[in-house]
Amino acid sequence: MKVKKNLTCSVSTSSRTMSLLSQLEKINLDSVLGEADNARYVTAKILHLVQSQEKTKKEMTSKGSSAIEVILSTLENTRDPQTILNILSILIELVSVGGGRRASVLVTKGGTQILLQLLLNASKESPPNEELMVLLHTLLAKIGPKDKKIGMKARINGALNISLNLVKQNLQNHRLILPCLQVLRVYSTNSVNAVSLGKNGVVELMFKIIGPFSKKNTSLMKVALDTLAALLKSKTNARRAVDRGYVHMLLTIYVDWHRHDSRHRYMLIRKGVLQCIKSVTNIKLGRKAFIDANGMKILYNTSQECLAVRTLDPLVNTSSLIMRKCFPKNRLPLPTIKSAFHFQLPVIPASGPVAQMYNLPPDVDDVVDESDDNDDAETESEIETEDDKDQNFKNDDIETDINKLKPRQELGRPLEELKMYEQFFPELTENFQECDLVSKEPKPFVSNANLGGPIVVPTAGEEFSAETNPSVIGISLKEGNPLLTEEYNRRPAFLGLPKKDSIKASSLLQQNVQRNLLPSCQCLSQEIVTGLDRISLQNTSENDQYYATGCVIKKDNKTSLTPLACSKTCEHVSPCGSSLFEGSSVHLGKFCCTGVESEEEDSKSSSSGEQVVLEVSDVSPVHDCDLYIEMVKTTKSIPEYSEVAYPDYFGHIPPPFKEPILERPYGVQRTKISQDIERLIHQNDIIDRVVYDLDNSICSAPEEVDVLKFNSKFESGNLRKVIQIRKNEYDLILNSDINSNHYHQWFYFEVSGMKTGIGYRFNIINCEKSNSQFNYGMQPLMYSVQEALNSRPSWTRVGTDICYYKNHFSRSSIAAGGQKGKSYYTITFTVTFQHKDDVCYFAYHYPYTYSTLKMHLQKLESMHNPQQIYFRQDALCETLGGNICPIVTITAMPESNYYEHICQFRNRPYIFLSARVHPGETNASWVMKGTLEYLMSSNPSAQSLRESYIFKIIPMLNPDGVINGNHRCSLSGEDLNRQWQNPNPDLHPTIYHAKGLLQYLAAIKRLPLVYCDYHGHSRKKNVFMYGCSIKETMWHTNVNTASCDLMEDPGYRVLPKILSQTAPAFCMGSCSFVVEKSKESTARVVVWREIGVQRSYTMESTLCGCDQGKYKGLQIGTKELEEMGAKFCVGLLRLKRMASPLEYNLPSGLLDIENELIESSCKVTSPTTYVLDEDEPRFLEEVDYSAESNDDQDAELADNVGDYEANNQEDGLSDSDSTRILLS
Ligand SMILES: [Zn+2]
Repeated sequence: MKVKKNLTCSVSTSSRTMSLLSQLEKINLDSVLGEADNARYVTAKILHLVQSQEKTKKEMTSKGSSAIEVILSTLENTRDPQTILNILSILIELVSVGGGRRASVLVTKGGTQILLQLLLNASKESPPNEELMVLLHTLLAKIGPKDKKIGMKARINGALNISLNLVKQNLQNHRLILPCLQVLRVYSTNSVNAVSLGKNGVVELMFKIIGPFSKKNTSLMKVALDTLAALLKSKTNARRAVDRGYVHMLLTIYVDWHRHDSRHRYMLIRKGVLQCIKSVTNIKLGRKAFIDANGMKILYNTSQECLAVRTLDPLVNTSSLIMRKCFPKNRLPLPTIKSAFHFQLPVIPASGPVAQMYNLPPDVDDVVDESDDNDDAETESEIETEDDKDQNFKNDDIETDINKLKPRQELGRPLEELKMYEQFFPELTENFQECDLVSKEPKPFVSNANLGGPIVVPTAGEEFSAETNPSVIGISLKEGNPLLTEEYNRRPAFLGLPKKDSIKASSLLQQNVQRNLLPSCQCLSQEIVTGLDRISLQNTSENDQYYATGCVIKKDNKTSLTPLACSKTCEHVSPCGSSLFEGSSVHLGKFCCTGVESEEEDSKSSSSGEQVVLEVSDVSPVHDCDLYIEMVKTTKSIPEYSEVAYPDYFGHIPPPFKEPILERPYGVQRTKISQDIERLIHQNDIIDRVVYDLDNSICSAPEEVDVLKFNSKFESGNLRKVIQIRKNEYDLILNSDINSNHYHQWFYFEVSGMKTGIGYRFNIINCEKSNSQFNYGMQPLMYSVQEALNSRPSWTRVGTDICYYKNHFSRSSIAAGGQKGKSYYTITFTVTFQHKDDVCYFAYHYPYTYSTLKMHLQKLESMHNPQQIYFRQDALCETLGGNICPIVTITAMPESNYYEHICQFRNRPYIFLSARVHPGETNASWVMKGTLEYLMSSNPSAQSLRESYIFKIIPMLNPDGVINGNHRCSLSGEDLNRQWQNPNPDLHPTIYHAKGLLQYLAAIKRLPLVYCDYHGHSRKKNVFMYGCSIKETMWHTNVNTASCDLMEDPGYRVLPKILSQTAPAFCMGSCSFVVEKSKESTARVVVWREIGVQRSYTMESTLCGCDQGKYKGLQIGTKELEEMGAKFCVGLLRLKRMASPLEYNLPSGLLDIENELIESSCKVTSPTTYVLDEDEPRFLEEVDYSAESNDDQDAELADNVGDYEANNQEDGLSDSDSTRILLS
């Protein structure tokens, strides 16, 4: 390094320091040997100034100062030992403050190389100059963390072993070895160095320093522990440590410190020991040694003793991480992870996961997979790479091919073939000559039978007539008792009752149905109660009296029923609370006044004119128990369910109180994890009794009084197995989607036989997503039948101690799609029941069955005013499971049958909506319910909406999935929202024909103005939309220059923008308009690109709640979801007024879209990017909930890590991959 001549001018002589530096520079330039005295003198002076004046340090390291160059140059050139020592001392002074910035300056000026060269030179002296070595190492230790390449530079220079040998030879000289150890710590974060140092005995050396226990030289010990922890991250070193028995030694040292450090002054040393154990247990041998050395028990017991002291949390958390890692991986206690139910597909897909599963040899055990255990087999070759990790993360999921982005608008199928869809659009040809459009006579009730049955689609290749006849379908009973079956087919059976009581109970129900209960204060039908009593209320003597006297006694008993307080008078609820059974139908939606009604804000936000009077809760009695049973009879499930869940029978009314997003209490996760670890420590306390098992029909519910009974053999239920773990704790296993071996997340099951005053812990142990809103304040839902009978038929958010974490069960590589041993996740929650011997239901989200949909559609149809509303319900097609996929048409009747009115009627633009392609996203159905009810309401704006558009709605794209309790797929074992590019008519009929309808509309030049598919989102809050924009996609790629001059109508942003202004749950900030490769076969992208609908959206509703707007801090309920569905319609009305629908011309200035686009272009993130980022802030509790073990608590050291351990990497990647697949 040569210092340029002109430096003289730049060094100001205004200060003493500067003049000294100037002298020094001159000495350098002259480089006369005789000047050594002079240099020594000048550097000593500078050192004195630096030591005594903070100002001097600032001056020398300020921007523009060349002081560092001058000094380094001197250091490089001089041979005088004292000058060198002086300069090293100056530099140490300079970098000792300033938070690392000054150290960085030294690095960028080439300081590392100069120092390493000096070190090399100094090591050749024998013996080396101790003072020089101390100073050199002190300085290297300080600048090391700022030089990512220092490890590599040191190795290339041959300096690695100098420090190591110094330590070896001077073990008692603590002043010398402390800085040497600090330098070794820096070197060791590089994996190649770690291996190289390991070969030279550094691991053994560190153990000499850290043990045996002693409180002397703790700072030395701390550095040695940190170095050791870094070294042991290398598998070679870890193996060496295991071979030498060091795991046992580490545990002994830890226990010694734990015992002797009673005042907790050496927390960092204790943590250092744990970090070493954590590193060494990254390898399988290390985990085995840990278990053999009784590590689980040792760390468990020490952690328990640390729990009381909050400052020791890092110890508890690190111990917990180690124990989780070493906990022997278990397999799920199942014979196979394939769904317990089988459905033979008409054709097997050529490739993909289903094909893979079908191709497995029959004897393959897909639960136990030995290959997962051999992860340490080929560890001999440590990956030797030091390339800088490229931290600039590029989202490679964004579509960059502009040709793929440009809308194609091809027909897809020949016109003649598309003609078959003409029948779904009778409104385009109807002339209403037969209709008496001015008549006030209400249209008579139109039953399903009058609809003319489903249209047989040629490709489905099945006869139709037999299936639609309800008497043929009936409800099959498992026993196959012909008498019973006959009985079931003849009457509106109450299917949920246990078989032995079913005849009696259902005939009782029938009586009730036939009776017309009129007065609103009618007490609960006694017969029903008695019927229910048989399953839910076993305490006979007391209950007999309870119900025999009906209402009066009921009131007396109310203390134990703790009625929900409602301050407002609610005329619909009678004093004895029996409005539930007013007449034979349950009047839902009129129950009570909740705090979340649309209020003043609505009128404010809708100042532009249209009346936003939401009638979400007033739309009237759309729930009808008897009709529900009728609907169930024609619903075909693969397991041939004969039972009906009470919540679906009784219906649901939003509870009259707010349900805030839970504040997560500190330490829940580690408590739960430590309870899981206790299963291993105290094995004798574990009951391990199977209490429910779909795979083993012999397994009957246990007779003991203390054991809960489980059931989910009803529509949308999906419990596979339940194991009692402790007295009040149960492990639950969910069934896979049919024709699949995974996708568990949705749950819906029944519990009975409970006692009050006991906290029951439920663990659902085979969840798959890597994180969940259960970690961010979401609670599961519970429905109590007792409460329903007390006129509170509500799903409510319940549960405490909720958390979601990676557990000790792992998936075989077969289940994980070839990836090795991925863990399952546990949702755990604790519930204390309010009523003894109640029947309660738990669900992931508000259930909404296919039968419920049919009932709702039927109700809407029967209640509508046919003079005003044009309503049709058709069958799009039949599903694989033999169910009808309904399609609904809603618009306004023409004003008259005059030509211009008929023309106006036919020329209304189409709005095409769909929902529930993903069965686990029940919220989508509730939003859809809100949309449908709003569209059918008598609200004036609903009328003008109907007069503006024709709505084509497919409310449930995946009926089979919903019925059979799937989370993600249809019966074909595939995600239907990945089939839109190439739907197979035999495997994906609903998608094939939904797309066909859209293709038909495109062919007749009647493209819908808006297409929207309703979904639910499990990891984010609020409601938001995904749309498609070429420009916004290109902004996220590096090839954006070409797209700048690309013309694109920004109209796709208008609807979400309107919704963000009008719908309280909607959040514009979460919307994204990026087209991802992984989404290229979703409805949104295909309808946009292939069909040519510019406003093609996915609308995602949270499963959890809102963090903005009116509902901020509240969990979402059905009322808010339904409101969203209604507000969506209102948004369409405003869209109509803002955009001329046929030309898509935007009046300028209405929305300053271009500006806003540019503003937000940097903020917009694609949905997948969101997934990769953390959706939520980290919570206080530091223990990881998703990552296996690689928490970067020692991030500072990890900065220059080159240690790529394959397993960590793989885990990180595969998580996001699977999320990509699981998210819509
Ligand atoms: Zn979805």
